[in-house]
Amino acid sequence: MLMGRAGNLNQTVLCYHSGMSAILHVKLPAFIAEINDSGIVLSTLEARMEFVIDLARRNIAGGGGPFGAAVFERDSGRLVAAGVNRVIASRCSSAHAEIMALSLAQQRVGGFDLGAVSQPAHQLVSSSEPCVMCFGAAIWSGVRHLVCGARDEDARAVGFDEGPKPSAWAEELRQRGIQVTLDVLRSQAVAVLKDYTAGGGLVYNARC
Ligand SMILES: [Zn+2]
Repeated sequence: MLMGRAGNLNQTVLCYHSGMSAILHVKLPAFIAEINDSGIVLSTLEARMEFVIDLARRNIAGGGGPFGAAVFERDSGRLVAAGVNRVIASRCSSAHAEIMALSLAQQRVGGFDLGAVSQPAHQLVSSSEPCVMCFGAAIWSGVRHLVCGARDEDARAVGFDEGPKPSAWAEELRQRGIQVTLDVLRSQAVAVLKDYTAGGGLVYNARC
């Protein structure tokens, strides 16, 4: 059984129940629950990027990683679900912002495929380019458009390893019908990464 929200109203909790015994919880900050219930509509890509960059900044302030992401209905601009990086806080290496946003969005729409014919086209907006894991997750999610702020090289420049993503990763997505838009408010997105590491934020990576 899949559940989108559980526990008290101040916490958004991602749950997976397998029978009665296996449950995975990833707690997101209280502001994510408030945002996801707010009915936000943002009409431009810049506004949507500004929104996820702000999520990243708020997440840092709460002890999280410097990454924010959100799923929008592409054409209406209605927010479906926002997410932030909770790897350290949740002790879960897959708790990247994109995975959080996609997973919550799928629970909120009630299906694993955001590209189903019954669904409006969905768009994933991320403050940074996807790592190799989130690159794969974007393909599997059913989103039709990926929008990124900071580039892979920007994340690497402050010490994050984005993994062995194909060099032609954007073209791989386009060949699967996923539009890709890069460099939206890139300098603002890069500033969040730099501020995080300058402030002593932990940089965690896959093993080499
Ligand atoms: Zn990732």
